[in-house]
Amino acid sequence: MPAAKLGRSGSKRQTTARVGSAAKAATNWTPRGGPQYGSAMRIGLVNLKGRASVVLGERVLDVERASAGRFSADPMAAVERWDAFVEWAHGLRTGEADTALDESHLGPPVPRPAKVFAIGLNYREHAKEAGLELPATPMVFTKFPTCLVGPRAAVVLSSAYVDWEVELVVVIGRGGDRIATDRALGHVAGYTIGQDISDRRLQFSDRPPQFSLGKSINTFGPIGPAIVPLDAFTDPNDLALTCDVAGESMQAARTSDMIFAVPELVAYLSRFCTLEPGDLIFTGTPSGVGSTRDPRRYLQEGEEIVSRIEGIGTMVNRCVAPRAAD
Ligand code: ZN
Repeated sequence: MPAAKLGRSGSKRQTTARVGSAAKAATNWTPRGGPQYGSAMRIGLVNLKGRASVVLGERVLDVERASAGRFSADPMAAVERWDAFVEWAHGLRTGEADTALDESHLGPPVPRPAKVFAIGLNYREHAKEAGLELPATPMVFTKFPTCLVGPRAAVVLSSAYVDWEVELVVVIGRGGDRIATDRALGHVAGYTIGQDISDRRLQFSDRPPQFSLGKSINTFGPIGPAIVPLDAFTDPNDLALTCDVAGESMQAARTSDMIFAVPELVAYLSRFCTLEPGDLIFTGTPSGVGSTRDPRRYLQEGEEIVSRIEGIGTMVNRCVAPRAAD
C-alpha cells in the first residue's frame, strides 16, 4: 500500500486548473487511445464483452481462461476477491496475453455495484463557480447502477440541458462499516474514471432539488476503461484529471484539490452505510462544467466527451440523440 496523503490536502494547492501540469501529464496519454500504463507493467481489470479481463500493457487476457477457472468470468467476482486477484495478475507476463485490446468492446468495469455514491461540490473551485459555500461535510447523493455504461458507450441526450462532470471513481474492494480514515485506503480496490452526466433541468426541477433522477438516466454513468489497483499510483490522492468536449478543454485539475479526500469520503460514508465490494464512489467534479460557464454550454448530438485521469487512461463517449440510440 503506498503512503497516503490524508486530510484536506487541497489547501496547499492552487485550485485553478494548471494547464502546464495537465499538459505535461497528457504526454503520457494517447489522445484517443486506451489505458496507458507507462513504462512499468501495470495491470487493470476491464470488462471485455461482459467477461473479466486483465489489461497488461496493450494486451488483454481473459481472466477465467488465464487462471484456469480460479477466477470466474464475472467482473464482479474479481472485485470481490480483489487481493487474491491482484496478486495473481501481477504474476502474469506480457507474452501470456492473448489478444490486442479493442476498447470499443469494453463495458463498465464494475457492471453491477450494489451502491453508487456520488459527492457534490468536492472541489473548491467548482463550489466557487456554482456560487456555493464550501460544505462542512461531504454532500452525498446517489446514481442508480442502471445508468452505468462502458468507456466507449454513447451518452443518450435526454434534453438540451445535459452536462459533463469528469470524476475520479473509487471502487471498494473490502467492505466494512465505521472505517477509520487512516485505514480507509485499505478498503479501496482501485480507481477508475467516471462521467457523472447530469440533466440540469431534471436535477433542479424539484424543490428542494433531488439530484438522483437527473443523474441516473440510462447511459449517464460512463465508467472505465479499467480498474487500476491503488498500488499503481505514486500518490493516490494527487492525480491529474481532464475533460474535453468537442475538442475543447473544459476541465483540468488535480484530485489533491478535493475538499474531502478519498480516505475521508470512505470513512464518512461507512459511518452510515456498510460498504460492500464493488460499491462505487464518484468523488466529485472540478470546475469547468457547462452549466456554470458564461454563456452556458451543454452537450450536443455528435460531440465527443474525452475524459482522462493520470495513470488510469481515457474514456471517449459520443453524445447521441434518443432516436439514434433506438
Ligand atoms: Zn458529480
